Amino acid sequence: MTDLLDIIRDEIREAGPMPVSRYMALALGHPEHGYYTRQDPLGTDFTTSPEVSQMFGELIGAWAADVWHQIGQPKSFSLVELGPGRGTLMADALRAASGQPGFAAATRIKLVETSPVLTRVQQATLEPVVSKYGYMQPEWLTSIDALSEGPFIIIANEFFDALPIRQFVKMETGWHEQCVIDTNTGLALVPSPVPLREDVSLAGALAKAPTGAIAELCPAATAITSDLCSRIANTSGAILIIDYGYERSAAGDTLQAMRSGTYVPVLDQPGSADLTAHVDFQALADCAGEGVSAHPVTTQGKFLLRLGLAQRAEMLKQAATPDQAQTIDAALHRLTDREAMGTLFKVLAITAGRIEPAGV
Ligand code: SAH
Repeated sequence: MTDLLDIIRDEIREAGPMPVSRYMALALGHPEHGYYTRQDPLGTDFTTSPEVSQMFGELIGAWAADVWHQIGQPKSFSLVELGPGRGTLMADALRAASGQPGFAAATRIKLVETSPVLTRVQQATLEPVVSKYGYMQPEWLTSIDALSEGPFIIIANEFFDALPIRQFVKMETGWHEQCVIDTNTGLALVPSPVPLREDVSLAGALAKAPTGAIAELCPAATAITSDLCSRIANTSGAILIIDYGYERSAAGDTLQAMRSGTYVPVLDQPGSADLTAHVDFQALADCAGEGVSAHPVTTQGKFLLRLGLAQRAEMLKQAATPDQAQTIDAALHRLTDREAMGTLFKVLAITAGRIEPAGV
């Protein structure tokens, strides 16, 4: 039994059934026992694209440098990453973009991270790159609220899938919030007995969902995206969101838990497994208000190949040993193949003004 399990049970005893969103927020972000608070899970529980190959972060660095050119090479702008993991993407991006004259001097690096453990890993990863290429010292923030100094170029890879979702079950009586209760045999998921009154946001495609259907909303994701959209609308810039998810809002249960690379039940030992949900890209694109454009969602495979992943792989292979060449080919395949990360992972670019983002 984990300490966090006790905490969750106590809260259910006092406050009643716990919405899935609260459970997910505690399991991932409890200040002491949360999954991300306690450890660096990358490489043990799951692997992300920047950890698969340096080429991923390099191409994103080139993408960011291109946006910087399109907004007129401002002398100062914020390069923001949400949930930077081990700092690998940012390090590769900074190295790749440093070849553009003036880029390093203009860049204010802002890392939005809640995990103290990962913040330390990011500091160690970025320190040598920052000093080698002449960037200013990065700034760490725990929330986007503290972001100032536009224009902004904002990157988020596998960040939105870690934000708490609400789940709803369609019953004869309407939509009911999915909640966690405590039973003799452990935690269990049950729909609240009382139907939702505020079912407005479950209209549209979900209005005709059959009985038994499950719908998900991620209020934190839409709140963050709307906030970032108004920041770029006011100052110019772009947002690049990469994650696994679906292009159009649809019913379906996508909440999943993973430990040591294996799926485990979502209520099993809270705080010890990564909990994620697929990202509803339509909901994020719909956050683009006046002065901001959401470009059509594309797949990670197409995006990376359009940015020149295959050519970059060839270049790296020219100086590689046969073993290294094999690793490069394997990474190319893993990042782009439909059976691997190429199709499930989607890319959404949101821009202000007349920017034509590369790759989408
Ligand atoms: N982008 C990285 C890591 C993805 S894992 C990569 O591609 O490798 C998710 C990251 O988001 C971790 O760094 C985690 O600590 C961070 N994170 C999760 N919830 C967060 C929140 N609410 N605010 C800021 N960072 C968060």
